[in-house]
Amino acid sequence: MKSARFWLAAPAAAALSVGAFAQAIDFSSIEIRTDKIAPNLYMLSGSAGLDPAHEDAAGGRIGVLAGPDGIFMVDAQYAQLGDKVLAAVRRVSPEPIRFLVNTHIHRDHTAGNAKFAKLGATIFAREELRDQMVNPRSVNGNTPAAFDPAGFPVVTYGIGGPLKLHMNGEVVDLIPIRAAHTGGDTSILFEHANVMMIGDYYRNFGYPFIDINNGGSLKGMLEALDATMKIAGADTRLVPGHGTIINRTDLVPYRDMILALQASVQQLIAQGKTRQEVLAAHVTGPFDSKVPGGLLPAGPEGTSADRFISEMYQELKSGR
Ligand SMILES: [Zn+2]
Repeated sequence: MKSARFWLAAPAAAALSVGAFAQAIDFSSIEIRTDKIAPNLYMLSGSAGLDPAHEDAAGGRIGVLAGPDGIFMVDAQYAQLGDKVLAAVRRVSPEPIRFLVNTHIHRDHTAGNAKFAKLGATIFAREELRDQMVNPRSVNGNTPAAFDPAGFPVVTYGIGGPLKLHMNGEVVDLIPIRAAHTGGDTSILFEHANVMMIGDYYRNFGYPFIDINNGGSLKGMLEALDATMKIAGADTRLVPGHGTIINRTDLVPYRDMILALQASVQQLIAQGKTRQEVLAAHVTGPFDSKVPGGLLPAGPEGTSADRFISEMYQELKSGR
């Protein structure tokens, strides 16, 4: 706990490597909270204030659909939390964990895969995600850590109609999202519970994150938000991988913010500004008070605001 707090205060935070960043988490202090959101559907979240990249709740949120047909899980948290996640699942149901799907490649959602695969779960994911896991992308020239092959997805799918699972009286749609937060995103709709887990292409703690290295794109993120607004009904609860549960109307100001920032960055690019100059212009200013955690460090690149504007600059500048 102490080291994580110190880390936040450290002025050299932005210079830390990806590895050092990950090590700043004190996993031993993190607890897993369980929220029941439908008769047989649960959301599992890590403690607040212990994960510098996700101050609101450590790691990524997990979904658990339980019942006599066995357990279906959405995402698998950090590997270091595997025992605690399993204990939380077991408090919900003693049934076998049969299936697990990943919303996207990031380790706070996938590194726990191997533990659950070894317990018998079949891992589902996009083809792109499997490739990102088998051949991890290097960031800033750093050699990425390998993923445990035991956690590689066994069943993969591409872009197209949703893959459907029928179990525990529920119909679960695995909906491929082309290229938003990453190039291998999936949204998971629980039709009867009327709940959709949307991974990280929407977040309300910190600014949006487009992982260009793993195939994410600004254009795809905007498309994903439009698609989600169409798929979700007025009462559908949307559950992000980080942040609070929302409805589709909450996507509108989020999308508008992205469009406004896009226009600002585009204008600065047209004026010939460099990436550093665009960052120095602090175009997120009007939104900073509305985005909780937006100015907290979000990784080796600095705050989530800087990270987002930097990604936006890169994509808009390249004209993709
Ligand atoms: Zn993510």
